[in-house]
Amino acid sequence: MVEKMSFIETTNINNGCTARGTFTLRLGGHSKNGYKSLNCGLYTDDDTDLVKKNIDEVLKVIGRERSEIAFCKQVHGNQVKVLKSSDILKTKDFDPIGEYDAIVTNKRDLTLFTYHADCFAIFFFDSVNRVIGLAHAGWKGVHLNISKNVINQMKRNFGTRPEDIKAFISPGIQKCCFEVDNDLSDLFIKQYDWAASYIEQKNHDKSYIDLHSIIKYQLKEEGIADIESSMLCTCCNEDKFFSYRRDGIETGRMGAFIELGEEKDGQKNTGCWRWRKYFRVDCI
Ligand SMILES: [Zn+2]
Repeated sequence: MVEKMSFIETTNINNGCTARGTFTLRLGGHSKNGYKSLNCGLYTDDDTDLVKKNIDEVLKVIGRERSEIAFCKQVHGNQVKVLKSSDILKTKDFDPIGEYDAIVTNKRDLTLFTYHADCFAIFFFDSVNRVIGLAHAGWKGVHLNISKNVINQMKRNFGTRPEDIKAFISPGIQKCCFEVDNDLSDLFIKQYDWAASYIEQKNHDKSYIDLHSIIKYQLKEEGIADIESSMLCTCCNEDKFFSYRRDGIETGRMGAFIELGEEKDGQKNTGCWRWRKYFRVDCI
């Protein structure tokens, strides 16, 4: 039986403007072994040609070309790349635009792309100024509050008001599986006086961190009220997701994509992320 490519698609239509977000599952690609099969991670030890073929399959479904993809080499930091309408991007063969962990743009001809194995993708949409953002946030990005930097760049460059932002948090490693040394959870408690309520002590040495709730708190703190999330745990769901925590170095990456679009005739404002789970398409 041929696996079907599967992904979570979320659209938000507001104010005459649409943002479409996509988060791929591991199903329906060409990669083998630990990378089986829709590996979107260009910096894994998988065969790069197969990874490009996998991403091409996704692009075919979302109706984009390689030259329309903007992505960065992710470094677990909190720096944001801003692409304005006057910026011309010349990417043709999946060339990264630098080392960053988030991108913000108002360009309609671009699809932003980040890649993930346990780390969360955070989608941002300001329909008033027609701006989108996409961030990659593992524990380091969350600790450095990358969301705050994304929101600040949207404000500074495009006049975004946080109350107009609609945010969506992708699947990622949830508290059930994110057991860490207390040294790590202490970093959060030292940095944020509210963080202790999202950390559960297991024993003297270990605790569980609820990164998803911390991201949500950080978004709210910056003034975003409209936040939705998928809540699926990448580490618990081996059939659907790659997981670095579960599988170690030989594992693939899910792809997150977001782009702006126009409202189509007959479409009404959703006012929230309309989330289609496991939207399936034949990729052969
Ligand atoms: Zn889990």
